[in-house]
Amino acid sequence: SETVLRVKDLRTQFALDDGVVKAVDGVDLEIGRGEVLAVVGESGCGKSVMARSILRLVDKPGRITGGEIWVRDPAGGGLVDLVPADVRTVRQVRGKRIAMVFQEPMTSMSPMHTLGNQIGEAILLHERVTKAEARERTIELLGRVGIPAPERRVDAYPFQMSGGMLQRAMIAMALSCNPELLIADEPTTALDTTTQAQILELLDSLRRDLGMAVMLITHDLGVAARLADRIAVMYLGSVVEHGDTASVFRAPRHPYTKALLGSVPKLGSGSRARLTPVRGMVPHAYQRPTGCPFHPRCEEFMAGRCEVTVPRPTAGPEPGREVRCLLYEDGGGSHKNAGLSKA
Ligand code: SF4
Ligand code: MG
Repeated sequence: SETVLRVKDLRTQFALDDGVVKAVDGVDLEIGRGEVLAVVGESGCGKSVMARSILRLVDKPGRITGGEIWVRDPAGGGLVDLVPADVRTVRQVRGKRIAMVFQEPMTSMSPMHTLGNQIGEAILLHERVTKAEARERTIELLGRVGIPAPERRVDAYPFQMSGGMLQRAMIAMALSCNPELLIADEPTTALDTTTQAQILELLDSLRRDLGMAVMLITHDLGVAARLADRIAVMYLGSVVEHGDTASVFRAPRHPYTKALLGSVPKLGSGSRARLTPVRGMVPHAYQRPTGCPFHPRCEEFMAGRCEVTVPRPTAGPEPGREVRCLLYEDGGGSHKNAGLSKA
């Protein structure tokens, strides 16, 4: 399908007093129209910085230091790279092509203004409509995202809404510019299980009915499994495995993906007793390991190789799948050879 986002070798660094943190370190991603891509990984793996980088929302001392971010040109025709683009183009992309919702809806809304005013403002910013028309459209959007009695809720203040309703309102605000891609950063993490399911159902219906692509950022593989066509697993700033959801779940290749899947309770078992976390912790940003960044935590660590060599992406076994692990590179692991792909 038509590409709505193509990210190549994206790098974002933070220059701090104690050194340089490579928060995003060579990310490649692609999303097609109407597609849902889940970006998964523990917190501290660079998912949010990556997402903010795409919209050029990284604040100092953070800076994009390399790579390409191709989106459909808001001025029409072809693709445009946002990395070197001027502020005006970036604003147009935020207004017409890509919208973002965050984990904490409360922090993205002003407590001082009604939903109607805030969403109406967003509409007035992008469209030539009257105030009355913007209000009508706001009510329509609030209804679209499943807020009951939208003609009354339009005059509510954020503090009068539950977390779930507020997240719906945030999604309505994001929809006000008819984006072709919605980036949702942990949109359900702050919500209870029932509300979480409802928000995911809403995102799925937007994809189905509006053909909107979604980049869903989550640490929760269950959430990813429910909604995503494809999965990208991120660890310390790069995508270590990606592929279609079913095949990644059926046969994970990267030891990190395997560990993450091992830490998800078996579907239907109803028990969280089986939950075993990934061994160890995400290292502190300044202590980036040499070689393969996952090596201190890896169950399949190969001494003499993994702490020395940075793995390159290796394709296979199915089309569209890729893994960054020395086990799958030419020659493969010294201690195992089963299931290796030839590069
Ligand atoms: Fe583990 Fe080595 Fe593969 Fe890294 S390269 S994931 S340390 S086996
Ligand atoms: Mg985050």
